[in-house]
Amino acid sequence: MSSEKACPDCEEVLEQMELQGTDVVETLSIVSKASDDGFLSSMRADEILTPVPYVCPNCRRTLLYAEK
Ligand SMILES: [Zn+2]
Repeated sequence: MSSEKACPDCEEVLEQMELQGTDVVETLSIVSKASDDGFLSSMRADEILTPVPYVCPNCRRTLLYAEK
């Protein structure tokens, strides 16, 4: 799969994880620093990205990618 993501530490291919339930999603919020100047202040709710966790099977490093 060309969309595979690699661990920045050990270059292992990351495994995509499923967020269980909604509590985690509600806790996580991605706020761009660019919104400080109002550039993204007009962003609508349907354009908010969902954070998708990826974990490295080798070092257990977890990275969040914002995907639609
Ligand atoms: Zn790793």
